[in-house]
Amino acid sequence: MREVIVLGATGSIGTSVLDVVDRHPARFRVHTLTASRNVEAMAALCRHHRPEVAVMADPKAARALSRLLGDGPGAPAVRAGEAGLVAAVRDGPADTVVSAIVGAAGLASTMAAVERGCRVLLANKESLVVAGPLLLEAARRGGAELLPVDSEHNAIYQCLPPSYGRDGVTGSGVRRVLLTASGGPFRTRAPESLSRVTPEEACAHPNWDMGRKISVDSATMMNKGLEYIEACLLFGLEPSAVEVVIHPQSVVHSLVEYVDGSVLAQLGNPDMRTPIAHALAAPERIAAGVAPLDLFAVARLEFERPDPARFPCLGLAVAALREGGTAPAVLNAANEVAVAAFLSHRLGFMAIADVVESTLAAVPSEPVTSLEQVMATDARARCAAEATIGRGGRR
Ligand code: NAD
Ligand code: MG
Repeated sequence: MREVIVLGATGSIGTSVLDVVDRHPARFRVHTLTASRNVEAMAALCRHHRPEVAVMADPKAARALSRLLGDGPGAPAVRAGEAGLVAAVRDGPADTVVSAIVGAAGLASTMAAVERGCRVLLANKESLVVAGPLLLEAARRGGAELLPVDSEHNAIYQCLPPSYGRDGVTGSGVRRVLLTASGGPFRTRAPESLSRVTPEEACAHPNWDMGRKISVDSATMMNKGLEYIEACLLFGLEPSAVEVVIHPQSVVHSLVEYVDGSVLAQLGNPDMRTPIAHALAAPERIAAGVAPLDLFAVARLEFERPDPARFPCLGLAVAALREGGTAPAVLNAANEVAVAAFLSHRLGFMAIADVVESTLAAVPSEPVTSLEQVMATDARARCAAEATIGRGGRR
């Protein structure tokens, strides 16, 4: 029986995780649920899953949750704030932690999970982008098992030989990794119309139903840029060994090419419960509630090269990866601020890339020395990005 902590339980990934967990009561027990401020959704999850601990990042929301659930038998212990979040991970008995908070806000709790040597299901790619080398080193020291939930990285993981961690990817005969991308809702839209798109249009993804931040990232393809960084870190790949391929059907979730010419791919319906179930039960396979893939209905699989002019965020992310040091943390912070500004109608869609580019220029990269330094850089980059937006960044 695995005891599970779901960080970001009310979100798109969190909900899918709980759906899979619910199908296997003999395998998994929900020990801790966390969320930001959605008290109603959290109360419903607590009544259904009966966790021992519930954490609300927002202290006011934590008080409201306590009032709603009371303190009778079966009610969870309610904790508050980032300190409560980290303590729930650090002090609890759970052995499986799902990292599904959105943004760099997920870093501290993910770090606590790897330090404790848990099996960590990583959906929160931002924490890896912000503090990759520190997180991987902490996972190695803590003896944590870091399993990718991001569908592309889970696909790559499934297509790599079990020896890749020991021999390195090149020692395993891998030539390169092909990272697939849907191209988002604006893949074929006239470029001159992109500056006028609304948050609702940007969040209407053709294949995946996701949180608003990652939906915008998919529309700008910053998501694929973050995933490029994530792939290089997780699998020890050189940037030159990764290529992005637009595949509008989102059925091939990524591919691994070997030196003998073999190319292995993982296919499936675009449903996050597949990679979640894989990571929850690995190396076993469990039912995920996902419909079987109907190739006759899919009929056609298409592939195309991304257009760098349409998707400048992808190039910015790869450049930040090559620059190294704190550059990916700056990229991520600027993007989080710019996406939030776009979602609240303070910034034009195409200006997201401008804000990221000018923030990267304003906050020079330094070699990474500590988590404190990375967090300080993240804060500086957020201020610089806000200042750019304040000066009027509509495009
Ligand atoms: P979401 O917005 O639907 O959910 C985010 C969750 O995090 C919610 O439970 C929210 O309460 C919590 N949260 C938000 N801000 C917080 C804060 N400051 N402190 C603590 N908790 C906070 O997001 P999502 O789409 O589920 O994405 C979650 C993560 O998974 C992201 O990093 C995303 O890139 C990654 N991911 C998502 C998908 C997907 O299909 N949705 C696929 C791959 C990767
Ligand atoms: Mg993905």
